[in-house]
Order: sequence, then structure tokens, then C-alpha cells
Amino acid sequence: MPEPQGEKITYERGQLRVPDHPIIPYIEGDGIGPDLWRATSYAVNQAVAKAYGGQRQIVWQEVLAGEKAFKATGEWLPAHTLEALKMYRVGLKGPLTTPIGGGIRSLNVTIRQALDLYACVRPVRYIPGVPSPMRHPEKVDMIIFRENTEDVYAGIEWAANSEPARQLIDFLNNHLGTRIDPSAGIGIKPITRFGSERLIRRAIRYAIDHGRRSVTMMHKGNIMKFTEGAFRDYGYALAEREFPEQVISETALYDRYDGRLPEGKILLKDRIADITFQQVLLRPTEFDVIACPNLNGDYLSDALAAQVGGVGMAPGSNISDEIAVFEATHGTAPKYANLDKVNPSSLMLSAVMMLDHLGWSEASALLLTAMEQTIGARVVTYDLARQMDGAKEVKTSQFAEAMVERM
Ligand code: NAP
Repeated sequence: MPEPQGEKITYERGQLRVPDHPIIPYIEGDGIGPDLWRATSYAVNQAVAKAYGGQRQIVWQEVLAGEKAFKATGEWLPAHTLEALKMYRVGLKGPLTTPIGGGIRSLNVTIRQALDLYACVRPVRYIPGVPSPMRHPEKVDMIIFRENTEDVYAGIEWAANSEPARQLIDFLNNHLGTRIDPSAGIGIKPITRFGSERLIRRAIRYAIDHGRRSVTMMHKGNIMKFTEGAFRDYGYALAEREFPEQVISETALYDRYDGRLPEGKILLKDRIADITFQQVLLRPTEFDVIACPNLNGDYLSDALAAQVGGVGMAPGSNISDEIAVFEATHGTAPKYANLDKVNPSSLMLSAVMMLDHLGWSEASALLLTAMEQTIGARVVTYDLARQMDGAKEVKTSQFAEAMVERM
């Protein structure tokens, strides 16, 4: 494949250096992916052109994954795709199909693990006008940092009655005193200090850099003491060691500050997963940055997205210290493939995050404002239109055009 015209994004002394014509690989995605990609790339290119008068431009480079890759190369995730994401450091990705119960492993999980994209970052913020089941969705302004490489998502599991499952159960029952039914399927949930610390560190740094007031560690440590409970303990120890000036724990808040958070400090607290699901609904203003292990984070991301209009409106990114892949939160919605029907906002808001990551804040602001104005004018795709009075329902491509008209 010939090298595209453009330059690589690099890292210099821990800082991202972004040229005026950065090469950014993209994965179109399966199902609704191509419709979303067309709308999103159009709106992003227009926002960049308008913000910088042609001085800056993204040089998109398509890389293959999923069904398109399989048709073209016989592989679901060609090595070249992973190499390109590694080399160019920033990527945009559409949704990819994962069969349930068998077949290939999730490509999304494979990409995250192969590139060690250890944090899945999902901001959840309300855009005025979007239909929401909440009475006060404007109170929701949270950002989830979900650990991305460990937990039951590590993919270490064996089918019921398979030889490895039988051997493992034998070992556990005979040597470690467990009483597991020999016919069980079995999975392993690793959670390490290293994995927990780098995720929680990132969440705390984000809170410091963005003037947030609290970081909540959400876990199920009352039941899974040595995995999820350890996640919480590692977090408190890390904050004490690395952020003693900026962060105070909830215990210190009441012992030393009479329950009132001093100006400029960040509160580090922890909540058990089940009650968190209730409290984010009933008292959303008590949550700001949330750090959690992998599975909890997966559930919470979609539940919170529902509060602000559903997965069609929820952006996300998967990041390591040097690589960032931005992606829609929803899946491939195959029944809507190629109908030019679905909502491109999730991928577009992911592109807003991507532009912020590049430091191209003028373009990201233009894109976000155009979306807010378009939705504010009740020009929306089917998913929002069916919940709104007086909406004008438009196709995916028309939504992008309506945004560009407002830039
Ligand atoms: P899904 O593709 O997210 O679709 C579920 C429903 O969500 C759709 O039927 C639709 O609701 C709504 N929806 C999703 N995207 C939308 C959009 N852009 N605009 C408007 N509505 C949207 O979830 P799924 O059916 O569980 O999964 C399908 C495939 O996607 C599976 O193979 C799964 O593994 C994969 N997946 C991939 C990713 C990823 O690549 N990151 C994430 C999740 C799932 P209505 O039917 O009500 O209109």
C-alpha cells in the first residue's frame, strides 16, 4: 500500500506532536459502519477546513478490520491494521461484529489488548434537546475510565466439560479446597496492581487537568475481595503516594475537613457497583470522574449513555500512554446497514474527542456546536425523532449536511 501524503504524529518528551497534515488511520466498521464513516468524515473534514482555513487537514488512511478485511484478505484483523494504529498513534474506528458464543474472538477486545489500550474513556454529557428518560439530564456530566485489558475480559475461559476445564477444576478441588462442579465452564478474572494503578492514575490526572471535583472508584469488592476489592485498595494507596497534595479520601474529608471539600482538591471515594447504578440515576451530581474495572465499566457506560439519549449519542476512546483509538460506543446494528438511517452522533462525538486529543480545539468546538445547534433545531435521525415532538427526521447523511450548514 503506498504511503499516504501527510506526516506521522509523534511523541516528543512525553508530548504529542501533531503536524498540520497528520495521517490518521480509520476502520470503517461493519453493519452501519460505512454510513457512519461517510457522515463523520465529511463533517470532521469540513470543521477542520473551516477552523483552519485550509492550513490543516487530516490525511485519512483506511485500514481494514472485520468483514471488509475478511473479504479482502481472508483475515479478520490483518497485522498491517495493528501496525498502522501503532505507527500513526491516533485512529478512528467504526463498530465491528462479534459473534456470540463461538467463532472469532471480539476484534474490539483484540485491538485493545494487542495495542495495550488500557483505558476506555467515555464521557457522558447531555446535549440540550436530546430526549432523555431523566427529568434533569443536564445534571449528568461524568466521564468513565474503564480498565480495558484485565478482568473477565482477559478472555481466559474454558468450555464446560473441556479437558482444560476438567483439569483446572480437578486442581482447584484437590489442592485448594474448592468444591466446583466438574461439569462447570470456567473463567478467570485477573486484576493486577499495575493494571489498576495505571487506570486510576490516568483518571486522577484527568480530574486534575480538567478541574473536576471527584474521582469515584466503582467496584464489587465486597464480593470479589482480591480482585475488585484490591482495585479499590490500590487506588487509595496510589493517591496517597503520588497525589498527596491534590487528592483527599472521603475518610480524610470528614476527619479533617468537616465534610467540606477544600477548593482545588479532588475527592477520591469508592462505591460498590450495585448502589452506584442507583445513585448515578438519583443523585447524578455526586459523580464526576468514575474509574472502574472492565466488566463494571462496560455495564455502566451503556447505562449512563441511556440517561443522555442512548448509545447513539455516546462517544468513547481506548487509550494507552501513546496510542489513542476513538470509537462509537454502540455496535454494528446490522438491520440498519446501508440504509443511511442511523445516528452518527456517537462516532462524531468520538471525533470531537479525537480533535481535542490532537489539540485542534477550534475544530472540535465547531463540530460540537454544529451538532448541538442541529439537534436544538430538532433536525435528528430516527432514533431521536421517535422520542421528540415536532422533530424533522433526516437520514444519516442529511444530519451531517445540516451540521455543516451550521458551521
Ligand atoms: P448495537 O449494534 O449497538 O444495536 C442495538 C440497538 O441500538 C440497535 O438496534 C438500535 O436500536 C440502537 N443503535 C445502535 N447504534 C445506533 C445508532 N448509531 N443510531 C441509532 N440507534 C442505534 O448492539 P447489538 O445489536 O447488541 O450488537 C450488534 C453487533 O455489534 C454485535 O456483533 C456486537 O458484538 C457488536 N458490537 C460492537 C461494538 C464495537 O465495535 N465497539 C460494541 C457493541 C456491540 P433500535 O433497534 O431500537 O433502533
